[in-house]
Amino acid sequence: MNQTTTFPELRAARAQLPEPVGFVPTMGYLHEGHLSLARRAREECASVVVSIFVNPTQFAPTEDLDAYPRDLERDLRLLEEIGVDLVWTPTPEVMYPEGFQTWVTVEELTQVLEGASRPTHFRGVTTVVAKLFNGVQPQKAYFGQKDAQQAVVIQRMVKDLNFPVEIIVCPIVREPDGLAMSSRNTYLNPDERQAATVLYRSLTAAAEAFAAGERDADRLRAIVRDMVDAEPLADLEYISCAHPETLQELDGEVERALLSMAVRVGKTRLIDNFLVMNHAFSP
Ligand code: AMP
Repeated sequence: MNQTTTFPELRAARAQLPEPVGFVPTMGYLHEGHLSLARRAREECASVVVSIFVNPTQFAPTEDLDAYPRDLERDLRLLEEIGVDLVWTPTPEVMYPEGFQTWVTVEELTQVLEGASRPTHFRGVTTVVAKLFNGVQPQKAYFGQKDAQQAVVIQRMVKDLNFPVEIIVCPIVREPDGLAMSSRNTYLNPDERQAATVLYRSLTAAAEAFAAGERDADRLRAIVRDMVDAEPLADLEYISCAHPETLQELDGEVERALLSMAVRVGKTRLIDNFLVMNHAFSP
């Protein structure tokens, strides 16, 4: 497995890779969620590139950039085991050299949900992903449904800017008790870790109600809200029942929806989502 830092090193290594090249962008501190993307890329592509970069521009000054967990040695070992060909570990100076002033912004899709709570987040994400795509020039790129809005935003960017890459969105990998895997789960103390299951529990309750015939968007949101309110260590930031592609909030009867939420458990901000769909419904 090769490892590169600078753009010239990356270009030289990339030029040697058989195509199609599959690419998995990450911020490191890898868990089974990340590894599921790398394994899928390994199955589908002749070469696999993974980037590890804790991207400063997608963190607000008040957020956890400095505390974000890192363990490069372990990450490299895990990627080697999967048979990844190339790991790109750019530094902030490589990504954002002095004088940097060009940004990629997806407009409407980033105003809602995570974007409403984190107004500068997606500009950082789309800009870094555009740079990562320009560096790696993959044929396929793998993202997790865990960050549902991110996947929608990246798909929009790729379409709007004609990046020649296919975006593949992979299912959320969960702990045995349902908690979606996240590098940020390491921030949770044992009581918080227990409380954090409320995201999965409440989304499951709403999805079960939907499966049993509950179609009202407000009532689906209320099921989640009531369960989170009953959990003393958890604070609901938002619960959304939105159109899965436009991300616009839905009212009244819904046939297909992205139920997504952000919750603070102690100081840790967690997100999760379920897609619900009436299988008898064809749009
Ligand atoms: P991150 O390192 O948090 O930026 O995540 C890198 C990629 O892994 C993103 O596409 C995430 O959506 C994806 N990812 C993170 N957690 C999970 C998970 N539990 N299941 C599936 N994909 C995930």
